[in-house]
Amino acid sequence: MKTIDLRSDTVTHPTPAMREAMANAAVGDDVYHDDPTVNQLEADAAELLGKEAAVFVASGTQGNLCALLAHCNRGDSIIIGDSSHIFSYEQGGMAQLGGILPHTAPVQPDGSLRICDLESAINPDDEHKPATRLVALENTHNAAGGMPLSAEYTAEVAEFARRNRLIFHIDGARIFNAAAAYGVDVKDLAAGADSVTFCLSKGLCAPAGSILVGSQDFIRRARRARKVLGGSMRQVGVLAAAGSVALHTMRDRLGEDHDNAQLLAEGLSELPGVRIKSQNTNFVFFSLADEVDISLDALLEALRRDYDIFMSIYSGERGLIRLRTHYWINRQAIDKVVAAVSSLLS
Ligand SMILES: *Cc1c(COP(=O)(O)O)cnc(C)c1O
Repeated sequence: MKTIDLRSDTVTHPTPAMREAMANAAVGDDVYHDDPTVNQLEADAAELLGKEAAVFVASGTQGNLCALLAHCNRGDSIIIGDSSHIFSYEQGGMAQLGGILPHTAPVQPDGSLRICDLESAINPDDEHKPATRLVALENTHNAAGGMPLSAEYTAEVAEFARRNRLIFHIDGARIFNAAAAYGVDVKDLAAGADSVTFCLSKGLCAPAGSILVGSQDFIRRARRARKVLGGSMRQVGVLAAAGSVALHTMRDRLGEDHDNAQLLAEGLSELPGVRIKSQNTNFVFFSLADEVDISLDALLEALRRDYDIFMSIYSGERGLIRLRTHYWINRQAIDKVVAAVSSLLS
């Protein structure tokens, strides 16, 4: 790709190895559990996360919704971060389709939810109140700027959930980025959680697909939820084949994306007029100083037109540009971006 697309890590195209695996994939009818490539991917994913079973789903949104539908009854309440993806960016699917009521807790700048806030979000056993069923974390935390949550913190939340007989779900869309950031086995970040969703299609580069893991019994119910959501597919081994390449070959290089995000933040921070807001894992946020006389819109337009560089304005906060590094952004691309922004600001 000549274009340098920093809008998201979802813009990643499949790698040549993925395209080859897709062309050669053995397939069967996955609704009959007959697709060997899907079965292998699910078994590998369950083992990698340290859970009994897994189900391949169309997207992270579908994985999270299948999890909530499988864990909760209509009228249940769940405790969830107020800027979490599940609460803010999934159209309230839990309420629309599951009759599940979100009870939000404030997401801290480090992406965590304070245990005291979780405690006070639990409803008493009172017939006026919806029953609190589940608590969910997000790792890395998207709206907190790609903040990774540690295994120690996750264990604290798991202990809180156990103490209060709550189910514990992790939206781990980028959980492998968190594992890379802390240099830990992803199993340690999933330990204590009843279910975890992760995306194959972001930094891992698969063209589509996410995985939901948990116990055998939970996954059986999640498969039922996937069916009613219209997400059961047939010879879907062609997608799972790319997912397997993602799972086996793309995790260990995510640290490069983090290094490139750091280089990008450092390079941009040296330009007069650029204010770096944060850099965590593969995310960089920046704004322009007041004295800069080009608007954000004009800057982005010029980058697109003159340099084939794509960035996007962050919808969550005024005046911020969000950048995400990924497989298709190398060091030379970082240098080009810094040089382009430098010349447009001077
Ligand atoms: C992207 C994302 C999702 C949803 O994944 P889709 O595949 O886009 O539906 C869920 N949670 C988080 C934290 C995400 O970043």
